[in-house]
Amino acid sequence: MTINFNEPFIAGREREYIDRVFAKGGFGGNLEYSKKVQAWLAAYTGARHVLMTHSCTGALEVAALVLDLKPGDEVIVPSFTFVATASAFARVGAKIVFCEIDPVDFNMDLDDVARRITPRTKAIVPVHYAGVGCDMARLQELADGCGARLVEDAAQGIGAWLGDRHLGSIAPLGCWSFHETKNVHCGLGGAIAINDPALFQRAEIIWERGTNRQMMYRGLVDKYSWVGLGGSFYTSELLSAFLMAQLEALDSHLRDRMALWLRYRERLQPLADAGRLALLQHSAAQRHNAHALPIVLQSADESERVRLFLKDRDIQAHIHYVPLHSSPMGKSMGYRAEDLPITEEFSGRLLRLPMHNNLGEADIDAVVDAVAAALA
Ligand SMILES: *Cc1c(COP(=O)(O)O)cnc(C)c1O
Repeated sequence: MTINFNEPFIAGREREYIDRVFAKGGFGGNLEYSKKVQAWLAAYTGARHVLMTHSCTGALEVAALVLDLKPGDEVIVPSFTFVATASAFARVGAKIVFCEIDPVDFNMDLDDVARRITPRTKAIVPVHYAGVGCDMARLQELADGCGARLVEDAAQGIGAWLGDRHLGSIAPLGCWSFHETKNVHCGLGGAIAINDPALFQRAEIIWERGTNRQMMYRGLVDKYSWVGLGGSFYTSELLSAFLMAQLEALDSHLRDRMALWLRYRERLQPLADAGRLALLQHSAAQRHNAHALPIVLQSADESERVRLFLKDRDIQAHIHYVPLHSSPMGKSMGYRAEDLPITEEFSGRLLRLPMHNNLGEADIDAVVDAVAAALA
């Protein structure tokens, strides 16, 4: 019996809600379910405005267009992240400035961010790794000091909080993913939170394919036209209906997931105490969503050895992420692997263990026993 790395969550009412879309007959975007999802997300997270997108990649692309970056403008992003965090800003011509991570939680190293700020820094993009929130207060100070905007990549952050603030609702712009590898999903999906009301009109035009159609719906203009740059960023009613069913089950999903996460950590703690591996740490204020179960081995070779040992026992563990600065694209931007030594080292040492709501306690015990056997 294989223990899969991820099994997409199924809440139960997805088909019923999709049937309602068939009954109503509107399959496009920005209809009843999309609006319901947007209102639900705004109420749950405290975000000022929310627009559904086809992915978190799309949400980050909207954010990059909203900021109206010019060639030569610099955007600081961690190298340890998914491609989209950097590519969304690179494709509007910004210069990507990669920063290091802090091996305690694998979030941006804020001292390193401070060192990389220049007069051309226009945006800083914190990634809340594994749903553990970055220090947004300190980041806001750094951003205010240089006149940059913050964009939260909260792709992994639905259901996760920093104190009483939901991830993605704190910075002027925040982005969530509803890809099937995230806690709740609709196959492919995302959303952008616009928390600074001054950015909303521009964001909505970009999201509406560069038109002011939404203003026509609100009676502000008689007919809509092309008013700026934009793209096709929304998602279909079918996916929004699916997502609505998932969001309604979010709190119970998170409770179940946290119970599994806590069992994992309890079983792994003796290995950490013995110095065989390290576990990511967070404070009580970093109220995460049990998104992932990363462990840090003593070297990249050992991480690979443990991964293959688990694979032989039909347990899927994954490495995460291959650093962006030393990727072919990063190299074409002039980076060398040795420019970010901490990212190089710790990305190699990190291994993600299976984490999804279909795991049973026996599965978790089997995974931890296999890790222990690999390290014995
Ligand atoms: C998953 C993920 C994304 C991309 O999300 P999509 O919805 O697949 O586009 C971006 N950033 C991070 C940190 C992610 O984990």
